[in-house]
Amino acid sequence: MSNEQHFDTRAIHAGQAFDPTTGAIIPPIYQTSTFVQDGIGGFRGGYEYNRAGNPTRTALETQLAALEGGAHARSFASGLAAEDALLRGTLGPGDHVILGNDVYGGTYRLLTSVLGPWGVETTTLELSDLDAVRAGIRPTTRIVWAETPSNPLLKITDIPALAEIAHGAGALLVVDNTFASPALQRPFELGADAVVHSTTKYLGGHSDVLGGAVVLRDDTLLEALSFQQFAVGAVSAPLDAWLTSRGIKTLAVRMQRHSENAQAIAEWAARRPEIETVYYPGLASHPGHEIAAKQMTAFGGMLALGLAGGPAAARAYAESTRLFQLAESLGGVESLIGYPPEMTHASLRGTALAVPENVVRLSVGIEDAGDLIADLEEALGRI
Ligand code: PLP
Repeated sequence: MSNEQHFDTRAIHAGQAFDPTTGAIIPPIYQTSTFVQDGIGGFRGGYEYNRAGNPTRTALETQLAALEGGAHARSFASGLAAEDALLRGTLGPGDHVILGNDVYGGTYRLLTSVLGPWGVETTTLELSDLDAVRAGIRPTTRIVWAETPSNPLLKITDIPALAEIAHGAGALLVVDNTFASPALQRPFELGADAVVHSTTKYLGGHSDVLGGAVVLRDDTLLEALSFQQFAVGAVSAPLDAWLTSRGIKTLAVRMQRHSENAQAIAEWAARRPEIETVYYPGLASHPGHEIAAKQMTAFGGMLALGLAGGPAAARAYAESTRLFQLAESLGGVESLIGYPPEMTHASLRGTALAVPENVVRLSVGIEDAGDLIADLEEALGRI
């Protein structure tokens, strides 16, 4: 499938050719652990054993690479498994990573509590302060890692500016593109070297699968990444890969609706006295609005609200909505609300990255915007 086709077409067709043996329009789920050999080493389709490769996974990996405009993709059992494979395939003891100061709590935990004891050093920085990033670079810096928009405060990083600094220091720029998805932002076009995803979120899109991916711009890291995937084995199962491929086919239309609904909610929230801060890059008042407007085609479905009533009001609000269900995760068609300090970002409590305690996070689904706003408004009356 050519990368010259438009995004929406690639999302539906890349890697998804119909089954030539039956004509089934949808590629089958190859629910198998192994592949019969015609004599030792006689592999019919190049497949040997499920940890090493499976056609359903290949179909997803081909689709993911085409979506991001990358050369290769590898898919994993979770977003964190994907991050781990990329980090361990790239780093060794003594290496240094610069990480944004607003990130998914699990990414920080992986770097500091798992890779830290192995000898990897991590500095967290405000990535919109480019001078701070330049000053934070060390001779051992191998990776600059940005989440943009970030989880949960929707901070925006200038990807081209960060790429220039990272490359000038001989480091790689990794972008976690989970919040935007490639429908809204394609980091390779902006200078990134690798893109990671929790495909659990917008790519899967239906809250029914856990998965992750690393997409590479070129061949440089492929061998190391593929080795980690094979040697450690945190691969996606065939059914999970298939569900993710199915979700991706509607990504473009979903992201458009998620963004429209989130914009409407952000504008409503900005008018409510009970809400002190609205964190949404689609609002002109957001400090990253102009950069987001340059590097994204819409602003996405995630937003955070800072409640004027403080932590108690935020906790109560997260428990008061009815259409927005209280749950971890994000990116599904149904709307979710969460209280990051005690849920997704609990591992950051007490660190410099702790999320303000008056913040709730919304994953805005694709329901009717009026119904969603009515739910949020009624819940304000209950706190
Ligand atoms: N990156 C971001 C931005 C996330 O929000 C998450 C999970 O919430 C992850 C990575 C980790 O993904 P997973 O939960 O699939 O391991």
